[in-house]
Amino acid sequence: MAMAPHPASEFPDFSHLPHVVIIGGGFAGIATARGLANKDVRVTIVDKHNFHTFLPLLYQVATAMLEPAEVAYPIRTIFGKAKNIGFRHAKVREVDHARSVVVLEDESEMAFDHLVVATGATAAFFGIPGASRFAMPLYSLADARRLRNRLLISLEEADASADTSPISLNFVIVGGGPTGVETSGALSELIRTVIKRDGLRIDPSRVRVMLVDMAPRLLTPFPEKASEYAFKELEKMGVEIEFGRSVVEVEERAIRFADGERLKVAAVIWAAGVTASGTLAHDLQVTSGPGGRARVMTDLRLVESENVWAVGDAAAVPLDESTFCPQLAPVAMQSGRHCAEQILRVVKGEPTKPFRYRNKGIMATIGRHAAIAKLPGGTVVKGTAGWLAWLSLHLWYLIGFRNRLRVMINWTWRYFDWPSGPRLIVADAETAE
Ligand SMILES: Cc1cc2nc3c(=O)[nH]c(=O)nc-3n(C[C@H](O)[C@H](O)[C@H](O)COP(=O)(O)OP(=O)(O)OC[C@H]3O[C@@H](n4cnc5c(N)ncnc54)[C@H](O)[C@@H]3O)c2cc1C
Repeated sequence: MAMAPHPASEFPDFSHLPHVVIIGGGFAGIATARGLANKDVRVTIVDKHNFHTFLPLLYQVATAMLEPAEVAYPIRTIFGKAKNIGFRHAKVREVDHARSVVVLEDESEMAFDHLVVATGATAAFFGIPGASRFAMPLYSLADARRLRNRLLISLEEADASADTSPISLNFVIVGGGPTGVETSGALSELIRTVIKRDGLRIDPSRVRVMLVDMAPRLLTPFPEKASEYAFKELEKMGVEIEFGRSVVEVEERAIRFADGERLKVAAVIWAAGVTASGTLAHDLQVTSGPGGRARVMTDLRLVESENVWAVGDAAAVPLDESTFCPQLAPVAMQSGRHCAEQILRVVKGEPTKPFRYRNKGIMATIGRHAAIAKLPGGTVVKGTAGWLAWLSLHLWYLIGFRNRLRVMINWTWRYFDWPSGPRLIVADAETAE
């Protein structure tokens, strides 16, 4: 049966408008596209995933608190109503500045008038042998699912051998920043819950959750008092914290420290930092900026470029003359919005304006009723007030009303019935990104 053609009005012709290609549908890319929606430009977002991922809640997917679909949202759906915004599901391999085209992994090319590089960052392994191969980072939805599988499988294995040869399980989290703190707290809670509620025959004293860091305290961007609070809360939750420990090698089921100790592990969770080295941003220029990030001018255009911009984690966004903005979601969103405004100014022949970061503060959660928020003025809020602020802010920024509702329902449900949660081992392609 012949299909009726779509009415022409459904597909307006925008081919006469300047073409803006945005690589990456993370916080920065989405904010840029939102700023260009329904404006006199044609936009194509290119992403290797067909969804936006809300990275700050990945650890809750990894520790079986939330489902993957609750922290991700299809990019096409976000822009369903903005007719000038299109999407291409592809990985960009390189940028040809001379010809103003991006080359995709399948060798096809896409021409642009303006290009926005919003490719984010990736886990930094600092060249530690075995770390990139055997440690488990938390940077994508696939990472979170893989980690959840590994955690649950390890616990099932321990249960299976309970009668014959009881095994000990060591989970080591490397890095005492917000991701390491959040993950170790949630992991400790997951283990206690699984043993109690699901009746796993595991002696809790045989399971260790260790958080190690080279630094002398947790959460270094926060004041020392906040670090002490996080330390005490994690200790109450059964997390063992060790400072001044540097990892020299990661093996398939072991970790080695600089002091010579080799510890058998069920998993090494890598939360030691991020880098743009190894991402597209790093290859954009002859010399890249700090942490492999793209060097940009104050208006966020690439140094030595007229029409290529970089935003979010991919860019070394200037904070002042000598320092750069941290790689955080508010920086990504603000830089994306600013970039959209500047592209529209350039298109209209107007001069660009410099980017100014408005500090919105930082937050980290540790567990139920325990979180820390450092407000823009420096005031620190902790405990239940910090935790409620953390919950509301994450709900507010989560993309998609349906996701917000589902996460809110799940959090509320789990508040009253703590042990519930999607503890599913779903086979995963080991190679998925
Ligand atoms: C586990 C974790 C927890 C975090 N928690 C917090 C928090 O609590 N608060 C906070 O402020 N910040 C937090 N951050 C940092 C924050 O998430 C980042 O600063 C923010 O995501 C940066 O946004 P972005 O758009 O620059 O990059 P991303 O969000 O990383 O998006 C990059 C996008 O580019 C795509 N991409 C990459 N390369 C290519 C390519 N070659 N071709 C096509 N597509 C490509 C990716 O698929 C991705 O969709 C956290 C980060 C992580 C990893």
